[in-house]
Amino acid sequence: MSEPTRPEPPPESGPDAIAGASRLSPVQQAWSDYVGHSLRCGTCRSIDGGKCGTADMLYGAYQEQGANAYGRLAEEAP
Ligand SMILES: [Zn+2]
Repeated sequence: MSEPTRPEPPPESGPDAIAGASRLSPVQQAWSDYVGHSLRCGTCRSIDGGKCGTADMLYGAYQEQGANAYGRLAEEAP
């Protein structure tokens, strides 16, 4: 059992995280969707059940958003 029961939130720093405090960035939104699903889904909440297909999809979307945001930040960085 190497799966973490409580995934860490994504590191969010930089001007966007501060200026856009009232709205979620795509990365934060994707993470929020994933965590929100994990809290509501019986399969995902079960220790023995693992993650369901929806969780896999949401986590994949989060990783995709994270990759996009990281690429954007790299482009904007001086
Ligand atoms: Zn689920």
